[in-house]
Amino acid sequence: MAFLELRNLNKIYQNDKGITQKALSNFSVIFPSSGLICIYGKSGSGKSTILNLIGLIDTPSSGEIFLDNHSITKWNEKKKNLFRNRDIGIIFQHYYLLEEENVLLNIMLPMLILGSKLSSAKEDAITLLKGINFPEYLYEKKCADLSGGEKQRVAILRSLINNPKILLADEPTGALDEKNSHLVMDIIKKASRNRLVILISHNEELVSKYADRIITIQDGKLQSNQIIKEENNGLPFVKPLKMSMFKTWTNTLSKTNLKKGLKRNLLGIFALLVSLTFSLLISGFSYGAKHVLNQETFNQFDYGCLTICKETTKKIEGSPLSIVQQMRPTQDEMKGVDIIKQSFFIENNLDSLTSGVTLSYDGIKLDNIMYCPVYSFDEKTVDPNLISTGTLPKTNNLVEVIINEKCKEMFNGEIVNQLHLSMNYEYYYYTQDERNPVIIDNWIYDFDVSIAAVVHELDFLSTPKIFFSYIALQELAMNTIMKNRSIYEGLNYSWFDLVNHCPNNDQASSYSYRLFLKDIADKEYMKFYTSAVRAPLSIYSGALTISEALFSLIDAATIGMELFLILALVGTSLILGIISFSNYTLDKRKIAILRSLGSNQSDILDIYGTQSLVLGFTSVVSALILSPLLSYLANWILLKYTNFNNLIQIPFFSFLGIPLFLPILILLFTIILCFISTLIPIVFSKKICLKEELTDK
Ligand code: ADP
Ligand code: MG
Repeated sequence: MAFLELRNLNKIYQNDKGITQKALSNFSVIFPSSGLICIYGKSGSGKSTILNLIGLIDTPSSGEIFLDNHSITKWNEKKKNLFRNRDIGIIFQHYYLLEEENVLLNIMLPMLILGSKLSSAKEDAITLLKGINFPEYLYEKKCADLSGGEKQRVAILRSLINNPKILLADEPTGALDEKNSHLVMDIIKKASRNRLVILISHNEELVSKYADRIITIQDGKLQSNQIIKEENNGLPFVKPLKMSMFKTWTNTLSKTNLKKGLKRNLLGIFALLVSLTFSLLISGFSYGAKHVLNQETFNQFDYGCLTICKETTKKIEGSPLSIVQQMRPTQDEMKGVDIIKQSFFIENNLDSLTSGVTLSYDGIKLDNIMYCPVYSFDEKTVDPNLISTGTLPKTNNLVEVIINEKCKEMFNGEIVNQLHLSMNYEYYYYTQDERNPVIIDNWIYDFDVSIAAVVHELDFLSTPKIFFSYIALQELAMNTIMKNRSIYEGLNYSWFDLVNHCPNNDQASSYSYRLFLKDIADKEYMKFYTSAVRAPLSIYSGALTISEALFSLIDAATIGMELFLILALVGTSLILGIISFSNYTLDKRKIAILRSLGSNQSDILDIYGTQSLVLGFTSVVSALILSPLLSYLANWILLKYTNFNNLIQIPFFSFLGIPLFLPILILLFTIILCFISTLIPIVFSKKICLKEELTDK
């Protein structure tokens, strides 16, 4: 029974210019199961082609190779890997060791790829090294530091460690001096006692000294097959294997890779670090800004004061426009909104009486100060925490007021007392009585006011304001009689009666009611309360408008930043992809060596995946450390320019109620990114051609 048979092998190559070249032509030969078979022939005669075909480094154009009567040429990739790993050892002229790894690891590799335990692989490697008297101080040396003869002996031991049935040696002494050539040939000769060794050599002297059979080849054709001495010693015995649970050799190779491409890898870590930190800061901003500004928008002294009116829209005939008419709602219409009635004081709007207010300071008229009501100076209806200087007035009166910081700036930052206020409002009452067609009354007041306190309000869109007590104004309006109207009606008719009883579309009604929040502690429910109001009623206030404006601004800013964030992440993915692509393509030869030793695609993925994972993890950890420091710095700068404290708050520990959501999310994202960027080059780069990478040039 034939052990190894080549039957009618043909190999046709096509070079770059498209010219075909027949490297092997109908080549048939039968090999015994042991002995040293030399293939002898001129350069270019097809010797290496034969070895490449047997070692499954290349595939024949036609013909078949049989091992123990099974055709190995048609095996699937898994079987081929196992064959390369366990049944075949290959020695090249230029060694093809992993130059950055040490002697022991290089020799152990085929055993580790097979799945052996590290300890038993090491034991076997040392036994082999001792068997050829390899100097012990070299065991842990990088192969790059060895001499040619030492390298070749390491390569031979690597090819023997799995006890292969066949050893292929392509001019193993081609690069060695005479002494080393004999050392190497002695080892190979010894190995051929219980396995088939096929050796290619130019060296006639070596061939005639060591060969058991000489096969000569010319122009791809068999010339002669001359048996010198052949005895069948049987196959090498297959040693039992101690299997390992974990593959650690791939990690060792990743580590070397990381060290070797340090600059490239640091660039990757930096790119990932920058974009991760940036993303953390942006998510910190969108979270923190909403949180902080949500709180900040409440910091308006008249936040609890609203206006409610009825709006009716009338189409203008023959025009695309329509008119919105505002009116004070009727009592009936107000009845519907329960939640409003429970939470607010519903009062007449006395804005008509204060519409003619003028303020002057030191004889100079102040034009742009707003005169705004708060319900009372009671701690229940205004927030005393907003006061930065002074105290709330003890009683509700009109001669004491509260101003905001913006207003204080108008007085050069001083609290002044020469503030003078005058109110002037003229009301015309049309009687439809011919003798007295119109009755005119005047609401006139003039008094000095003092500033009791200054409040610190939300800075955004803030205008100078003076806050007065609504209750005090109401009392004044109740106690002030409209002289002429009273005479006409024949009873005491106050200014308050006027507002109270005037028609809902009368100017004196201010076309609305006032709502004052009963308990200022409820102000965070304001949005909820106001959402209960439905058309045709509508609610508004300066404070609510400002807080809505601020929120849309933040939303717009966050969306803009998120766009940048996506760009940053795309950029990072590209950088990672390019780095892992170059890591991979620069290592083509190394990958080819590993493949020729029988490792499969998933081992390769392991090596390069681990490498990107290390990059990823390092970046994530650095980003998690760096971003709080940066957010601290950014908050400090933002506070200086915006008066808002802690605008950036990165929700590390809990987000959306899930503990450690953000770090876990970032970690997962990075792992996926690393995985994809490892996979892309392996999938898209041209399939590595073993023959191309493993041809001695
Ligand atoms: P050698 O006997 O020197 O080892 P080879 O087996 O390497 O010869 O090559 C046999 C022939 O095939 C040579 O003429 C060589 O030029 C040709 N050949 C080998 N590889 C290729 C290739 N990839 N493309 C084209 N021609 C090739
Ligand atoms: Mg050759």
